[in-house]
Amino acid sequence: SAAEIILMEALDSFKKELSSPKKIFITTHVKPDADALGSSLGLANYLLKKGHSVTVVTPTDYPSFLTWMKGNETVLDFSNPNDKDLAISRLEEAEMIFCLDFSVLGRVNELGELIRNSKAYVVNIDHHQDPEDFADFRYWSTKAAATCELVYELIVELGDKDAIDKDIAECLYSGIMTDTGGFRHPNTTKNVHLVVADLIDKGADCSQISNWIYDSNSVNRLKFIGFAITHRLIVRVDLHTAYFAISKKDLKKYQSQTGDTEGLVNYALSLDGIKIAALFSEREDGIKISFRSSSDVAVNKFAASYFNGGGHKNAAGGKSDLSLKETVDLFESLIEKCQDELFPAETITVH
Ligand code: 5GP
Ligand code: MN
Repeated sequence: SAAEIILMEALDSFKKELSSPKKIFITTHVKPDADALGSSLGLANYLLKKGHSVTVVTPTDYPSFLTWMKGNETVLDFSNPNDKDLAISRLEEAEMIFCLDFSVLGRVNELGELIRNSKAYVVNIDHHQDPEDFADFRYWSTKAAATCELVYELIVELGDKDAIDKDIAECLYSGIMTDTGGFRHPNTTKNVHLVVADLIDKGADCSQISNWIYDSNSVNRLKFIGFAITHRLIVRVDLHTAYFAISKKDLKKYQSQTGDTEGLVNYALSLDGIKIAALFSEREDGIKISFRSSSDVAVNKFAASYFNGGGHKNAAGGKSDLSLKETVDLFESLIEKCQDELFPAETITVH
């Protein structure tokens, strides 16, 4: 395809850029998940090994169940006043900027405009739909399950498969594990298993990583999940839809930490007959929304059209500036209105 031709031409210029030691700035999307942080630190550890100087900057903080990754303690949080000045100076002196696991500059808040105006060589490695054209080199495919899968392939493309050590393998494994929902989503391809097999070969310990990421709940978090399922789940069987609406007060009551609502939306999708699930959580800066859908229904266009968001076919997100109540009312009416687009007639089974 055309994209592949452009890619191959740009690949030469990219390889040339990396052929001498560079000052490199790596960033990823707000509220980084395992794929965002794992791809950033996996790549950072590789580039450090190759003799570059590397700074990883996240636009916000991230969940504590990711802090075991190698290099975590060197990550600068742009939203933290203690880190911001250093992050800006690292961005200003950077010769290369890597943008990982996002493809529209709006996903990195204030950093977006700084990157747009930078003179550095910009690289975008990502697997989200509809990328914005801001990079000098884009290593992008929506066929990839995770950005970590693409980082692995890029390292192989650079002829450095042997440079992938245990630390790098563990970072990359994490993002592939979580972005495939623990190797369960439709994006769990043969290639995913081949890549993961090699990462295991390089030393990634699957059960240890799964334990760090999935089995490190606080008591508050587990009780919060129980509360949300019991008191905050709305099921609209008639619309094949179920959702959670979580208020600021709810989050406060359970002393919610960054990452504590992650995965909650999947409980709504796990219901028999439910094809669309959503989680609305009331944050300082408005309502944050997560959408999930069964494999035959797409939610990314819905998120983009009505909730200022986007994402993948079966996992998308968005935001709303309305109140929590107004947002869920709007959501219900839109789901009702969009039945034909969301559920092509043949996919609906009437019980
Ligand atoms: P999550 O629900 O886990 O926060 O996000 C699910 C997916 O939707 C991720 O791939 C994420 O990149 C995308 N996503 C989440 N929030 C937004 C948003 O506000 N804008 C866009 N464009 N994508 C989002
Ligand atoms: Mn991802």
